[in-house]
Amino acid sequence: MQALTNRAHSVERKPMTWVERLYLWNIFKGMMITFSHIFRRKATISYPEQKREFSPVFRGLQILNRDEEGRERCTACGLCAVACPAEAITMEAAERLPGEEHLYREEKYAAKYEINMLRCIFCGLCEEACPKDAVYLSETFAPANYQRKGFIYGKPDLLIPHPIENPDEYKKALGNRAHQQHTSN
Ligand code: SF4
Ligand code: SF4
Repeated sequence: MQALTNRAHSVERKPMTWVERLYLWNIFKGMMITFSHIFRRKATISYPEQKREFSPVFRGLQILNRDEEGRERCTACGLCAVACPAEAITMEAAERLPGEEHLYREEKYAAKYEINMLRCIFCGLCEEACPKDAVYLSETFAPANYQRKGFIYGKPDLLIPHPIENPDEYKKALGNRAHQQHTSN
């Protein structure tokens, strides 16, 4: 039969010596490989006490952003939902009422905003589609859960802490985004 590559080797089938039949040599060789790894740098870490730094391009859990005055940026335009290839985003729009200008930046806002984390593939297209800098993928990830409904993230789960009322938590949630934060759109 014609060989497709030149990598084929014929197997040697010579009878084993009495040393080989004891298998001690092979066990010794295996143990040497194990011992040689003891002195190498460990590939694992003791999570959660130790944590690795994320890659600068890591895309994690979505955050709904506020502006510098703490107003919700999202105007419920639906562009993120249209851009989402996994159809993971759903929302309901509402009109801003007089007196709510300190809560919502635009005349329309998302009364309901949900992301199904079981569908999300963390592609970041929602972030790219958003004209208001209202949604971005953070440096954290959705924690494990035993129930499917625990992976449906609503507005209270996604909304970033208030920058004036809770500045420390806000900065933490913003992470490396702090220097990228747009002041207007
Ligand atoms: S990251 Fe991608 S899959 Fe996830 S919600 Fe955004 S657009 Fe959809
Ligand atoms: S997050 Fe951005 S793209 Fe999505 S509805 Fe809100 S403003 Fe529109």
